[in-house]
Amino acid sequence: MEAMEMLWSYMKEDMKADRVNNELRSSPLRQKLEKTRDYILEQQKSYKLIEEQVAIHADRKDAIQDALTRAKDQLDNLLNTFETNPPKDEESAAELLAEAEHCRRNLSSYEQELRRIQKDATDFSQRSATIRNSTVRARREFDQMKETYTAESEQRKQEYAALRKAADAKAVGIPYDLMAVYNSVKRQITPPMARLVNGQCSGCNTSQPSAALRKIDAGKEIVECETCGRILIK
Ligand SMILES: [Zn+2]
Repeated sequence: MEAMEMLWSYMKEDMKADRVNNELRSSPLRQKLEKTRDYILEQQKSYKLIEEQVAIHADRKDAIQDALTRAKDQLDNLLNTFETNPPKDEESAAELLAEAEHCRRNLSSYEQELRRIQKDATDFSQRSATIRNSTVRARREFDQMKETYTAESEQRKQEYAALRKAADAKAVGIPYDLMAVYNSVKRQITPPMARLVNGQCSGCNTSQPSAALRKIDAGKEIVECETCGRILIK
């Protein structure tokens, strides 16, 4: 089967290109780069969450401040009433005092809440400053690493491009269906093809059933090893 031999020689080039590509991907510097990038993204997410909290707090602060102003006005009115129109008996005096006390309690609870919001706001701004600083540091580190990585990997990338081109050239003329099977097997196991040696798959050393051997001999269909799934070739 001519196409199978073409696929076999394609595989040799494909594997060479993959090896260089894998080396590029697994370079420690690249992995550190990816880790730093993930860290930066995470920090950006936390920063955004804090900003959302800050916005919610700002709204709450406005609402409390309004309530505080209203309670102050109410107290002022009560005091005003007390001066301009003093209560005529003990009962109405007690009523007025109770109302004033109620206002004072409201005022104090609003003030407490404002202080709490103020404290939270300080915490938020400290946290976001910390995040900002560490993000700036990480980004600087990332940029430096990237520069080094780009310089270091440039040669390997060119090497990879050349190998990939050579592999692509070998792919010319291979039937589309065969290539599709090759690619799908390759996702499961690599290298995706194995020679048949003494009736055994040389990928996993499993003896193949005689039906499979006959099919491979006939060369009319694609036969995959029952054990490892590789495409078998005579
Ligand atoms: Zn096998």
